[in-house]
Amino acid sequence: MAVEIPFRRDFAFAYGRLETVAAGVRRIVARNPSPFTFKGTGTYVVGAGDVAVIDPGPDLAEHVAALIAGLAGERVTHILVTHTHRDHSPAARALQQATGAPTFGFGPHRGGRRGEPGTEEGGDWDFVPDVVLRDGDRVDGSGWRFEAVHTPGHTSNHLCFALPDRGILFSGDHVMGWSTSVIAPPDGDMGAYLASLDKLLGRRDTVYWPTHGPAIDAPQRHVRAFIAHRREREAGILDCVSRGVGQIDAIVDRLYVGLQPALHGAAGRSVHAHLIDLVGRGIVESDGPATLDGLYRPARR
Ligand SMILES: [Zn+2]
Repeated sequence: MAVEIPFRRDFAFAYGRLETVAAGVRRIVARNPSPFTFKGTGTYVVGAGDVAVIDPGPDLAEHVAALIAGLAGERVTHILVTHTHRDHSPAARALQQATGAPTFGFGPHRGGRRGEPGTEEGGDWDFVPDVVLRDGDRVDGSGWRFEAVHTPGHTSNHLCFALPDRGILFSGDHVMGWSTSVIAPPDGDMGAYLASLDKLLGRRDTVYWPTHGPAIDAPQRHVRAFIAHRREREAGILDCVSRGVGQIDAIVDRLYVGLQPALHGAAGRSVHAHLIDLVGRGIVESDGPATLDGLYRPARR
């Protein structure tokens, strides 16, 4: 019996409009829909008057212009970035040029090196935060206080931002309602991702606002389903490997029935992330380095 994830895909919004989604929380959705971004990037504004912006979004001039127009008469005091993917951080530059606000984040992108073959394509190699945040760091503004929650896995530099007084967690791409997260090596790390899901189970947040799609209002149930889903996927991969199906393409064909062709590559990277984790735990071994086109088999013990 497959794990059922309680996906949430009802999403009411209008592109280009800064809309109130909860008390003191507004959101504007960028027009960059895709199989990885759902309807597009949701840029959040927290506070009123002096405000923080979370995930300015992709390098889309109309998005930044609409955000700034929506904030007429207000002042952006903080620009917070959950992680350095191209649908999240590039607009920080234009927003900072327009407002002078400092940027906050864990650090620059770390998926290998820019231009190196085999490194992921979606990284924003240009973003460098003005203020570096570590797990548990506080960021104080006018009427709000954020706590940074380091949640590596989707990327090594992923942060969620909590408003502990309100039970709100801005969960970035770590936990989304509409889809599972892409865990793509080299920067994506399955073991770190599962540990970061466990970390959220130890918190008391009551609602998550992901960067893509609608809010998650039963977050613990959602996180537990994601953990169960990955454990189930891992068991499926181990089953394949133990039957001699040791190449990632073949494993994807077996395990992802009915997959859209556009998502085949992402599924392969996810299987790769599981295999790297399994090799690291001594359960599986590979011929040579644990690459995307490697051959995997059960470890001899
Ligand atoms: Zn991302």
